[in-house]
Amino acid sequence: MSKRKRQEGEMEPREFANKFSPFSGEISERWQQIPEEFVGKLKTGISHLLPRMVEGLRREDDHDDSIYTGRTGIALLYLHLQTTFPQGDDLVTAYQHLKAPLQRLRGRRHTFLCGDPGPLAVGAVVLSKLGRTSESQACIAKLHDLHRASLDPGLPDELLYGCAGYLYALLFLQSRLPEAAIDGAVVERVYRRMIHSGESLSKREGSKSPLMYAWHEKKYIGAAHGLSGILCLLMQVTTPYAQEHLHSHIKPSVDYVLQLAFPSGNFPSSLGNNSDRLVHWCHGAPGAIHMLLQAHKVFGENKYLEAARRCGDVIWERGLLRKGYGLCHGTAGNAYALLALHQTTKDSKYLYQAFKFAEWCMDYGKHGCRTPDRPFSLFEGMAGTIYFLADLLNPDAARFPALYI
Ligand SMILES: [Zn+2]
Repeated sequence: MSKRKRQEGEMEPREFANKFSPFSGEISERWQQIPEEFVGKLKTGISHLLPRMVEGLRREDDHDDSIYTGRTGIALLYLHLQTTFPQGDDLVTAYQHLKAPLQRLRGRRHTFLCGDPGPLAVGAVVLSKLGRTSESQACIAKLHDLHRASLDPGLPDELLYGCAGYLYALLFLQSRLPEAAIDGAVVERVYRRMIHSGESLSKREGSKSPLMYAWHEKKYIGAAHGLSGILCLLMQVTTPYAQEHLHSHIKPSVDYVLQLAFPSGNFPSSLGNNSDRLVHWCHGAPGAIHMLLQAHKVFGENKYLEAARRCGDVIWERGLLRKGYGLCHGTAGNAYALLALHQTTKDSKYLYQAFKFAEWCMDYGKHGCRTPDRPFSLFEGMAGTIYFLADLLNPDAARFPALYI
C-alpha cells in the first residue's frame, strides 16, 4: 500500500508498495552508470521475455494492425531491437509483422499509434533499411496523402486518435529517414491546424491557456489524450512558424498545465477532476513529466525541472502499478519517466530508480497484476516492457516511443 492513508471505503490502491531501498550515498557510488552485472541481468530478462511474447502472439488473432495494441507495434519493437539488442533478422521479422497491416490499410483513424500512419511510417523505414526503396517511397507518398484528412476540423487533436498523432508520424519519418524528404510545408500546415484548433477552443471557453484541447468534450491533461502529449510534441517542431509560436502560445500553455499540479507532484487526468489517483503515462505525472522536461530543454527555466523532480518522487512512490508492466498504464511506462529525468539531470538516483522498476518488470507475471486486453502488445503488454528493457541498455539514448522524435 502507498504511504497515503486510505480513507474508509476508498477503492483498492492502484499500485503496489515500493519496497526497494531508497537511494542513498552508498548506492550513489555505484550508479553513475548501470553496473555491469545489471547489464547482464537486463539482457537475460529480454532473452526470457521475447520467446514468451512470440508464443503469446501466436495464440492471438492478428486483426489488430495498430502500433498501440496490434501487429505494427511488434514491428516497431523489432525495428528498435535492431539497434538496441540485435536478435539476427530483426528487420525481416519487423517486415513479417507489417505485411498484413500494409495490405489492409483501413482509412479510418489517422494517427501513428492507432491508424494507417503507423504501418506507413514504420513500413517506410523498415522497407528502406531492407533496400526496397520503391515500396518505401510508396508508403511515404500514402502518408503524405493522408494530410488532408488530418486537417479535417472534425478530427480531434490528441496523440492517440487525433491530429498530433499524424504529426508525430511525419516527424518520426523525418528523423528516422532524413532522405525521405518529408514535405516541410505539410508539417507546417498540420502544425498550423493544431495551433488554430487550440486557439479556437481557448477563446470559446475563455481559458487562461492560449491553447486548449478537448477529446470527447473533456479537457484532458495527460499524454495520451491531452495537453501534455500535444505540447510535448509541438515543442519538438522546429519550422519557422513553430518557432514564432513558442513564446506566445506554447510556453504560457505549459505554464497553465504546470499550475494544475497536485501537492503530491502528480497531475489531474482532466480539468475539473481533482482526484489525485492515476499515475500512468496516459493520465498523470508519468506523461506530464515529458512535457516539463521538454519545456526545460527549450526554455531553460528551472521551474519546469523542479516540477519534473516532483513528478519523479510521486512516480517512485506510487508507480508500481497493479495494471501491469506495459507502457501506457503500466510500470515500464512509468520507468521511462525516471529515465528521462536521469537524462536531463544526470542524477544517478533516477538511473537507480529506473533500473529498480525494470527489475520489478523482469519478474513478469509474478506480482499478481491484472491482465490487459492485449497482453503481448506494445502499449498494453509485454512488447512494451521488452522495448523499455532494451532501451535501458543505452540509457542516454532511450526515448518513450511515439512521443519523442
Ligand atoms: Zn493508458
